[in-house]
Amino acid sequence: MGWWMTGAVGRRGAIAGAAMTVLASGALLFAFADRSGAAAQTTLTVNLPPPVNYRIYGAPEARGRPIVVIDAGHGGRDPGATSVSGQASEKDLTLALARELRDDLVKRGRVRVAMTRDDDRYLGLDERAAVARRLDAAMFVSLHMDSAPNPIARGATIYSLSDVASDAEAARVAAKENKGAETVVSDGSVQAMLSDLAMESQMSASADLAIRLVHKSAGRFGLRPNPHRFASFHVLRRSEAPAVLFEAGYISNADDEVLLRSPEQRSKIALALAQAIETDVAARARR
Ligand code: ZN
Repeated sequence: MGWWMTGAVGRRGAIAGAAMTVLASGALLFAFADRSGAAAQTTLTVNLPPPVNYRIYGAPEARGRPIVVIDAGHGGRDPGATSVSGQASEKDLTLALARELRDDLVKRGRVRVAMTRDDDRYLGLDERAAVARRLDAAMFVSLHMDSAPNPIARGATIYSLSDVASDAEAARVAAKENKGAETVVSDGSVQAMLSDLAMESQMSASADLAIRLVHKSAGRFGLRPNPHRFASFHVLRRSEAPAVLFEAGYISNADDEVLLRSPEQRSKIALALAQAIETDVAARARR
């Protein structure tokens, strides 16, 4: 092209010196000057992501109750892990579990619920966390399915937010789930110190929630040894709420895959999660 422009066009891309307008059709209209200085314009059609879901689900009696954000991990062009049989992907199982958990919580009526996604769409980690911040959520629960090269590894793990990882495995899981996120490095300013303090309290509230989750889960479905672990998960940190990342089991294990694909088994998991969430919300309200 003979146009005077540089730069890449992406979701947040820009063309230097160009004014961009989003048309109702979803097309982008660029107006800019060509080499001779004459005004020129062109259109480019891109697939804009659908807007983030801010819908709040709740029973009438839950009006005014705290909002819990359920985050179904992965989605759209990011399938997450693939199961050992090759027949299931993490993004579909996390969405199924998220819907079941939402329905349980709404039915029980003690909290209101929002979901970062309720369909097969791609969302960045910051978009997910922004749902919790925008709704001033009481809690953020991110749902995932684990996978590991070791085919006998199985059971659920509950990760709470921390600035250091509890173990090498937790660090590996965080690195995997943080893919694509920018790391925030403290600059030592007053602002940074205040946000460090906020994070201290976010970390301890996240740990409390994880401990309640372990209690409600024990004996109802398989947990890994030392099921409460912690690491620096970008999506949890950015939610600015008490937050856990729940790995429901290993889809790289044949037995766990069968269980996690069974609605009956998932309903046990959803119920334990719902009870732990309600206990945690009630305990915080009493403080
Ligand atoms: Zn995942």
